[in-house]
Amino acid sequence: MKRLLVLGAGTAGTMVVNKLRPLLSDDEWAITVVDQDDAHQYQPGFLFIPFGPYKPGDIVKPRRDQLRAGVDLVLGEIDLVRPDQNTVDLADGRSLDYDYLVIATGTSPRPDQTPGMMGAEWRQSVFDFYTLDGARALARKLATWEGGRLVVHITEMPIKCPPAPLEFSFLADSFFEKRGIRDRVDITYVTPLDGAFTKPVASGLLAGMLEERQIAIEPDFYIERVDDEAKTIVSYDERVIPFDLLVTVPLNMGADFVARSGMGDELNYVPVDKHTFLSPKWDNVFAIGDASDIPTSKAGSVAHFAVDVFTHNFLQHVSGEEMTHRFDGHANCFVESGAGKAMLIDFNYDVEPLPGKYPIPGLGPLTLLAERRMNHWGKLMFKWIYWHGLLPGRRLPVPTSMSMTGKEVATTTTREMEKVQ
Ligand SMILES: Cc1cc2nc3c(=O)[nH]c(=O)nc-3n(C[C@H](O)[C@H](O)[C@H](O)COP(=O)(O)OP(=O)(O)OC[C@H]3O[C@@H](n4cnc5c(N)ncnc54)[C@H](O)[C@@H]3O)c2cc1C
Repeated sequence: MKRLLVLGAGTAGTMVVNKLRPLLSDDEWAITVVDQDDAHQYQPGFLFIPFGPYKPGDIVKPRRDQLRAGVDLVLGEIDLVRPDQNTVDLADGRSLDYDYLVIATGTSPRPDQTPGMMGAEWRQSVFDFYTLDGARALARKLATWEGGRLVVHITEMPIKCPPAPLEFSFLADSFFEKRGIRDRVDITYVTPLDGAFTKPVASGLLAGMLEERQIAIEPDFYIERVDDEAKTIVSYDERVIPFDLLVTVPLNMGADFVARSGMGDELNYVPVDKHTFLSPKWDNVFAIGDASDIPTSKAGSVAHFAVDVFTHNFLQHVSGEEMTHRFDGHANCFVESGAGKAMLIDFNYDVEPLPGKYPIPGLGPLTLLAERRMNHWGKLMFKWIYWHGLLPGRRLPVPTSMSMTGKEVATTTTREMEKVQ
């Protein structure tokens, strides 16, 4: 019996085991997935919790219920991987042996890594929305907040779902407008990037959207500390930004066991081939989803496209064949823009987000790089698709690799580039 061990039963780990189970014979393969708890969280839902529409019960389900029959779930904290012995140690003393290992333990917000962030003001006037607890605490705060200086802040890139803090800013603008207190709230978007977003064309558009909503942007800000007495954030180049309410995206890091096991980079991400997810060091170790160091967005959509490619390659690899499928870095992200609209961006390692229609070229129904109501409905509908299509490993009617068909390449890009300059 061969043993496939998957670490992490989040978005990527769940899809990996659910897609592979029907393809690997029960008589020849045991498939086990490990996670520290039995609560699968739909993380894109965290964005909406501070503003009310989702309740926590909508977005958390037992992990066990998401797994196909024939997949074993082990609950326990992963402590160490011994890649030269093909063994994983759990914190409670159990050990699991494997023939093939897939690391899918994601990335987590680490407010403990910035001095002062978790000081006396943590969850008083300093909040995050990248955890369920944080999003719930922020919802309670926003329900009664009477206004002042709201600072939306990114500590360092990469973060998972890079548009999320922008979306938070747009939704906050709408939320305060609806509450009738927008004139009493100053919103500042503080980022270590040199613009609103990682990709130049989208960055230009998004900067314009911030400006339209009178949201100030403070770029190139590398935070050194939170001064919780003065209620300011301070950068390494000694810029000081005061806040009444700080909503921060803390440093995102891969799991600590990755570092303990000597398998990660400085942020605990596992180096792998960006087209196949295979470790260059161990021929039976893959890393997929946010846990890997591949240079595209850390996002559920990326995990989805990546798992499609990985599944084919894994079957070839375990049969001793060459892996012939190559991941192109395909990502697509909805960017909620407030007032019931959203943008959609679609890109890969080589191609910037471009305007056009998605997923059916020329028809859509979704529109790329433009704010539309239909995109917003797409984003809301995605929750259902996540639980009922994506996680079970069903084939969705969207291309795995990014398609150029239907994209408006030369003309609009030039136009948008002119706007940016
Ligand atoms: C606010 C927010 C909004 C988002 N919006 C979007 C969006 O609109 N679109 C999009 O595509 N993506 C979005 N994302 C990102 C998306 O949720 C993640 O990229 C995706 O979940 C990554 O999947 P993963 O399997 O790599 O990691 P995860 O789903 O995070 O799974 C990792 C798993 O590993 C487990 N684990 C970690 N360490 C250990 C350990 N030591 N022992 C045992 N288990 C461990 C964790 O419990 C977890 O279950 C959003 C994320 C956030 C926070």
